[in-house]
Amino acid sequence: MKEIIERLVRLQEIGFELRAAEEERRRGPEALAAVDRAFETQREEIGGERLRYEALVQELHRLREERERTRRRLELAQQKLMQVSNQREYSAVLNEIDSGKAHMIELEQAIETRESEIEELKGPAAEADERIAAAREQAEAEKRRIEQRIEELAGVIEELQRQQQELRSAIPPAVVARFEAIARARGGVALAAIVNDACGECRMRVRPQVINLVRRGAEIQICDSCRRILYIAPDEAPAEAGKRGAETSGD
Ligand SMILES: [Zn+2]
Repeated sequence: MKEIIERLVRLQEIGFELRAAEEERRRGPEALAAVDRAFETQREEIGGERLRYEALVQELHRLREERERTRRRLELAQQKLMQVSNQREYSAVLNEIDSGKAHMIELEQAIETRESEIEELKGPAAEADERIAAAREQAEAEKRRIEQRIEELAGVIEELQRQQQELRSAIPPAVVARFEAIARARGGVALAAIVNDACGECRMRVRPQVINLVRRGAEIQICDSCRRILYIAPDEAPAEAGKRGAETSGD
């Protein structure tokens, strides 16, 4: 019976691995689409930086022209000030000069802001094509990696199914049926390790005589509370402990 329990433990592990592999494969297309979406966002951002740079350069050009026009208007107004003949004209020209000066200050500030924004964007905008190409390359490499993994998973799933079949045929059919019935009823977990004299799944205490029976491997023992098949946890069976770690995948 001990050997059968060991096979059941392995069968359950394979079941978990199989479900994880199937889930990962199922998510493959979604993962590929996510890479595409991330690249599109990047491209829009990088392209957007360049468009903003170009718009800023045009805006700066327009502001400098307006500054030149305003400067000329101010000069003319100052000349006019010398020639006015009455008080009314004099204050009209003075007003013109005041608003012209205020506008010059606004323009200077706007020009300064654009200039520093342009300075900041100059590098990224100039490198935009290169950066988009690099991002595309990276996205394609990531997609190749995912596609490779999907292909790999097909093999992994096939191998796990083969092992599952092999194990099933090495366990009495009645035990397999019981195992599967419990798994169906208990969220896919048919086995429970005894940890610190308690069921490792539902945490209820396991009676000492039941623990003894499990240790002896006399016959299948189930948890009084969650009805799962009990087995000795690797911690409590040091000879078994080494076997598990080597099987976990690098992921
Ligand atoms: Zn239990």
